[in-house]
Amino acid sequence: MARLPQVVRKEPTRSTRSPRRPPRRGGGRRARSVRRVLRDRRQPVKVRVDSERCQGHTLCAMIAPEVFRLREIDGHSEVIDEEVPAGQETQVIEAVNSCPERAISTID
Ligand code: SF4
Repeated sequence: MARLPQVVRKEPTRSTRSPRRPPRRGGGRRARSVRRVLRDRRQPVKVRVDSERCQGHTLCAMIAPEVFRLREIDGHSEVIDEEVPAGQETQVIEAVNSCPERAISTID
């Protein structure tokens, strides 16, 4: 009777990430800046829109209409007031994270 070859099972790897890219610690630069804004809430949060990057997707104005408005000329976004009104910080952070062009930034 012929012997069947023994099947050797490999141990599953712990991570499916590419070995070239090490895992990010703490969520990357964008998450760190959001955390910094949340931490320093006592100081007024300032926000700006990079008009070179903005493509007028309107997401920011829908998320935070008290902070962003769209220009009638080109439909691009601009901030109504650089200083974010109290109670609008969460919406601004959501707008920062939602902007597909990464055009919105907060100023510490
Ligand atoms: S979401 Fe970004 S790209 Fe869209 S209008 Fe606002 S700033 Fe411009």
